[in-house]
Amino acid sequence: MNIVLMGPPGAGKGTQADFMKAEFSLPHISTGDIFREAVSQGTELGKKAQEYMNAGKLVPDELTIAIVEERLARKDCLQGFLLDGFPRTTVQAEALKRVLQKTGRKVEAAINISVPQDILIARLSGRISCKECKTVYNTSYSPPTRPGICDKCGGELIQRSDDRGETVKNRLLVYQEQTSPLLDYYDKHKVLYNIDGNRDSREVFYEIKEILQGL
Ligand code: ADP
Ligand code: ZN
Repeated sequence: MNIVLMGPPGAGKGTQADFMKAEFSLPHISTGDIFREAVSQGTELGKKAQEYMNAGKLVPDELTIAIVEERLARKDCLQGFLLDGFPRTTVQAEALKRVLQKTGRKVEAAINISVPQDILIARLSGRISCKECKTVYNTSYSPPTRPGICDKCGGELIQRSDDRGETVKNRLLVYQEQTSPLLDYYDKHKVLYNIDGNRDSREVFYEIKEILQGL
């Protein structure tokens, strides 16, 4: 299964990706996670990506495409993959198509999770996650038992630096302008599936599972 997971920031892509990984054992490729890891390790890539991320802007296509291309060429992706947060521009979608074509592959489903704008803002600005095990909490919807401490592992809960005020607004704007046109792109390729993401994450997953089982 070659799957692309789409949706605005805060739609719940990461949560659904975790469910999908567990159920279908697909390699999960999150460009956001790759960039965050590079930033925390202070690599060359991290240095380049950091300023864009903190401004809520997209990392340049050329850089992002090169990273994904390298990752998709590895053996574990040949039986299928789950792309999360990529493509985010039409240029990236075209590049993905070309890269996959080289090995006779294509995107089989683009799962689009949609959530109303006001809910996205509330979700993102209350989002905190564990520094150690990465479990995500929300200070309003799903707070930890003890403030600032992870229920699962006792780790410290932190806010992503791009989940703050202006950056959140910018990310939503960038999504509207640059990423939402991709829905048309995948619709034309007859692989688009729209999912209502404004529900319990288990219910959202149930629907995604049915789609993937029907492929
Ligand atoms: P979210 O979907 O919640 O905004 P991500 O973790 O997917 O979060 O991405 C965080 C940031 O990483 C983005 O705001 C952007 O700066 C960068 N990024 C991630 N994926 C891409 C991509 N495909 N193209 C360009 N930049 C990206
Ligand atoms: Zn934890």
